[in-house]
Amino acid sequence: MVDLKGQYNNIKDVVNPAIQEVIETTAFINGPKVHEFQKNLEQYSGVKHVIPCANGTDALQIAMMGLGLKPGDEVITADFTFAATVEVIALLNLTPVLVDVNSDDFNINIDALKNAITPKTKAIVPVHLFGQCANMDAIMEIANENNLFVIEDNAQAIGATYTDKNGVKTKAGAIGHVSATSFFPSKNLGCYGDGGAIFTNNDDLAHTIRGIVNHGMYVRYHHDVVGVNSRLDSIQAAVLDAKLPHLDTYNRKRREAANKYDNAFKAIDNIETPYRNGGDDSHVFHQYTLKIKGVDRDALAQHLNENNIPCGVYYPIPLHKQKAYLDARYNEANFKVTNQLVQEVISLPMHTELDDEQIEYITSTIIKFING
Ligand SMILES: *Cc1c(COP(=O)(O)O)cnc(C)c1O
Repeated sequence: MVDLKGQYNNIKDVVNPAIQEVIETTAFINGPKVHEFQKNLEQYSGVKHVIPCANGTDALQIAMMGLGLKPGDEVITADFTFAATVEVIALLNLTPVLVDVNSDDFNINIDALKNAITPKTKAIVPVHLFGQCANMDAIMEIANENNLFVIEDNAQAIGATYTDKNGVKTKAGAIGHVSATSFFPSKNLGCYGDGGAIFTNNDDLAHTIRGIVNHGMYVRYHHDVVGVNSRLDSIQAAVLDAKLPHLDTYNRKRREAANKYDNAFKAIDNIETPYRNGGDDSHVFHQYTLKIKGVDRDALAQHLNENNIPCGVYYPIPLHKQKAYLDARYNEANFKVTNQLVQEVISLPMHTELDDEQIEYITSTIIKFING
């Protein structure tokens, strides 16, 4: 699905000395590299504060802790996403409220979101799924009207641009009250292990969060709040700082590959190619996800595997049907889109090193299968 080795080979002249430098200086934790990367990512994202942490799941959890959400508070998020989003809500004894998504861009559905709001609702977690933003104009408006926090799950859309209704462009992750991202190796900006970060423009929240990531300490050995130990280590920061200048190029290469896939599938009625909800800069294709209509998706997936083409089904089970998150409140009639998407979606190889020959092999194998 991804070619991490090919990408590494192209940047190893920069990455290797950066890693070596951390080893030589032995500043493994909270070294200068972490601070440098933090500053560079703040500048890149146009956000006032980046707080690095250990992974994207922690970033979501810490964001919620920083906002002071309390047990019983309801947090609304999408039914069609990776479990990390709902997991941290449940872990903090908050009440997850899952809602349906759009069938075109796979992001949280605005009417479903509105219908789910109760007097207990405290926050909304839009997930910018597969690399493009949810409808942030509508979400911020709903949040303002109802006094809710917005926590962007930006694990999949780093570098994507959101253009609001006035034409103002903002980077994904810099729009909500706080956001979380992941540097898991296969993410658009991935390190060589685990990593994550929290973004916010709010000075007070940033201060609170900087303490939470470090055992609730604001002054050494004074623990003012219950915190966690969640750090981005210096070696990962060095890798990320070396890769950050390439992020826009990486995302452009992903878009170019997506356009080539689109083109190859244009005439195939059984295939719906990914919908873009904005301009060319809006989608960074963390995943290139097709909807397969009138053909057995699982048989296609098996055929691709037999032909040595990796593919993935993200996600095969709606969160509201996962054993850990079952809730008597959920009504199947409210999850029509997710229930259908889990049967139709298939994601194809998508990375920065895809070449024309690979795309041609992948697309022709799929088309031959569909045309029988
Ligand atoms: C990857 C991912 C996460 C979690 O990130 P980790 O760094 O793996 O903890 C959270 N939400 C979404 C949507 C993701 O894709």
